[in-house]
Amino acid sequence: MTEIDRFAREREEMVEFQIRGRGIRDERVLAAMRKIPRHLFVPKGLERLAYEDRPLPIGEGQTISQPYIVAVMTEQLELKPQDRVLEVGTGSGYQAALLAELAATIISIERLESLANLARENLARAGITGVRVVVGDGTEGYPPEAPYDAIIITAASPGVPQPLIDQLAEGGRLVAPVGSRDCQDLIKLVKHEGRIECIPLGGVSFVPLIGEFGWREADR
Ligand code: SAM
Repeated sequence: MTEIDRFAREREEMVEFQIRGRGIRDERVLAAMRKIPRHLFVPKGLERLAYEDRPLPIGEGQTISQPYIVAVMTEQLELKPQDRVLEVGTGSGYQAALLAELAATIISIERLESLANLARENLARAGITGVRVVVGDGTEGYPPEAPYDAIIITAASPGVPQPLIDQLAEGGRLVAPVGSRDCQDLIKLVKHEGRIECIPLGGVSFVPLIGEFGWREADR
């Protein structure tokens, strides 16, 4: 069996046991996870762990999230092919690659330039062209392309940054981990006629969202 065949088999097993087996039912999300080669988004030397049920380090003290958590967040965004999506926290680019399979316009903001460059390289290697990676403080959103049908924040903050709520379109969905530095709840906000509905999705643990409307670097 070639290495590519082995990764394909591991990816299929990841989707069946970790993702579908734990209740993810959106066929578009399952198909995207079957298709995107996650091993191209983990650091050299860790490829053999790419399809395991865990987050992995990607450098700069940051992580590529556990596949199941990525699936839960992606499913909850309820993406339609024509949607405009903002991701805050590009990291490896893996989540952005999935978003590009599911929606029309993907803007992904990363505060660390080295990781933004890494993500651009990973996305290019995987042949994904539909993601615009921007370097900046994602807690301020990205006003030039707003409003967004969906916003995903892949780092944790004490509350959802107000600029991101403001940049959500009518009917838009926002998924984010919110809580203390060590322990958070995943929440989904839905904007209805300007009002915000909040739906709790369960406990998670993410690296901190650092910026003007998140944690300060010094808050350790
Ligand atoms: N979505 C990523 C992936 O698929 O690999 C994983 C993201 S990692 C858990 C969180 C990322 O958020 C880190 O790369 C971190 O540098 C970034 N981050 C933290 N605060 C940020 C901010 N204010 N704006 C943009 N990115 C931020």
